[in-house]
Amino acid sequence: MSGAAPRWRYPRVLSIAGSDSGGGAGIQADLKTFAALGCFGMTALTALTAQNTLGVRAIHAVPSAMLADQIDAVVEDIGVDAVKIGMLHSAETVTTVAAAIERHALGQVVLDPVMIATSGAVLIDRGAVGALVAELFPRALVITPNLDEAGLLVERTLANEADMESAARRLLAMGARAVLLKGGHLAGDTVSDLLLTPGAAPFWIRAPRIASANSHGTGCTLSSAIAAFLALGRDLREAVLDASAFVRGALEAGAAVRTGAGSGPLNH
Ligand code: PLP
Repeated sequence: MSGAAPRWRYPRVLSIAGSDSGGGAGIQADLKTFAALGCFGMTALTALTAQNTLGVRAIHAVPSAMLADQIDAVVEDIGVDAVKIGMLHSAETVTTVAAAIERHALGQVVLDPVMIATSGAVLIDRGAVGALVAELFPRALVITPNLDEAGLLVERTLANEADMESAARRLLAMGARAVLLKGGHLAGDTVSDLLLTPGAAPFWIRAPRIASANSHGTGCTLSSAIAAFLALGRDLREAVLDASAFVRGALEAGAAVRTGAGSGPLNH
């Protein structure tokens, strides 16, 4: 019957992140994740990268006014149940995003403090790191640094689980409301991720390492899956557990696929 009132809608998730022309990371990974998890995905682009499985060739920042317009446009019409923040590139971008979160009172924000790509490409200006901590840590429900990003933030090399725990405590002291510190870059057959929230015992998620050359976009996919599961109504711990399982499934599914000559993407 035409004109009938809609009876339901998808949970709505917004990715504020960079574009990976190679389709493996950034907003492309985020949209695939949202779709795979039954959410409606939207995007506010912070930067374009010219990129393939071999690395990042060039970065072009989106002007701040255009970034703010993208966020305003989708929030004012469609609405947002959860937000994933990825590559922010500059201090000005950080400030623009923080102001938009404030302006629209956006909750359920997952902040992936993207800094350096696996290929070694620097995705954020050094000067933006202070702004990221001061302006976005307190506004995010959880931050999801990997070992290198956490090490850069706390200015220490993290070599084992004890280091991870003290770094996560330090990140809480720096203003984060919860920390998911990803230990995948530590050597070993088991991958350990740590979820630390104030007042709760450290919550370790340990799983056997999945052998795959196709891991490009793992961090992007994990943070967008957490945002999707939050939009679907999970609490933080459940969202993190379900997102980790989703990423492991995508790593397994992509292990035998050949995409490009370099570090290939997951298979969502
Ligand atoms: N490109 C963009 C736009 C990203 O957002 C990211 C990571 O978040 C990367 C590249 C790096 O991905 P990876 O470290 O998995 O290669």
